[in-house]
Amino acid sequence: MGGTNSIASGLSALAEILEREKRRGAGTIALSPDSERLLRAMPSAFKQTGRPAAPAQTRAGAGPAETSRATPSRVEPTMGMPLPMAESANPPSLPAGKRFPIPAVAEADRNEVWVRVQLNAIFKALKSCPDCSGLGTLFETVVFAAGNPQAEIMFVGEAPGLEEEKERKPFVGPDGQKLDQILKAMGLPREQVYLTNVVKFRPKKGDGRFQGPTNRAPQEDEMAASLPYLRAEIEVVRPKVIVAMGRTAAEGLLERGGSLASFRNTEHSFEGIPVIVTCHPSYLLRQESEGDPQQAKAAKRLAWEDMLRVMDRVGMPVAEKQRKYFL
Ligand code: URA
Repeated sequence: MGGTNSIASGLSALAEILEREKRRGAGTIALSPDSERLLRAMPSAFKQTGRPAAPAQTRAGAGPAETSRATPSRVEPTMGMPLPMAESANPPSLPAGKRFPIPAVAEADRNEVWVRVQLNAIFKALKSCPDCSGLGTLFETVVFAAGNPQAEIMFVGEAPGLEEEKERKPFVGPDGQKLDQILKAMGLPREQVYLTNVVKFRPKKGDGRFQGPTNRAPQEDEMAASLPYLRAEIEVVRPKVIVAMGRTAAEGLLERGGSLASFRNTEHSFEGIPVIVTCHPSYLLRQESEGDPQQAKAAKRLAWEDMLRVMDRVGMPVAEKQRKYFL
């Protein structure tokens, strides 16, 4: 079963990649020798597992779609677009305080399909995260990640809010629109970066019954329960730089307390990957709507300086106009 599941997952992920390339106008796809070998080996893998994997059929829209299998398997929204889930796959569980197990793989086989399959496993494991649900302070819907699973830049927020929970995608509400503006100024489409949160569930206020549209920042215990999954995402995606948005996200990721200013002014790394801490988009929005204009401009300038550092880190060319953006 496990073999069939991973083939189904891999093939569906491959189908999604090919669809995306087609939408971008690609007529041909260049394959590395390793990918070619992998694809050529699939027919014999089918023979061994005894049944072919059904291709994923996705509906438009953000919600889960069904495949056309006799026993429908869910297609969950993980990476901005729905990603296929293997039918009845058993994701590895996470022993308390331990790392989420990522299978060893040869460097040459760390391709997009492999990354997507691993992210799916992390996503599935989160759906039954006992450490998260055991707290009783988080809603149940998993809001995983969006964007490019092989991005050089990973943006990490704190936790999803109501809009994100409804769409099951991070950063789709007002904070996400602010983030889109920042990305646009950097010359980066949202699809090119990886967006995720420390906590993958919307935090409850009280027992959540009368919460309405209000959101709250995650607490230390919620972030501690979620960190192994974020660590696994980082291990799989392997970005060149991580951007922690806001003090709370920085505290959750770096497992220490501090002020935004102290985080911003220090070099950090997470498992050897540089971490740049910047303001949360909601802070910038608050400054725009409530603060005095000078203060709002100063906050924007700080955030932009951080983004210039991010661009430098990944070797993105910075235009003169971008350097002087808020000056
Ligand atoms: N704020 C966050 O930190 N994350 C989201 O996904 C949305 C708002």
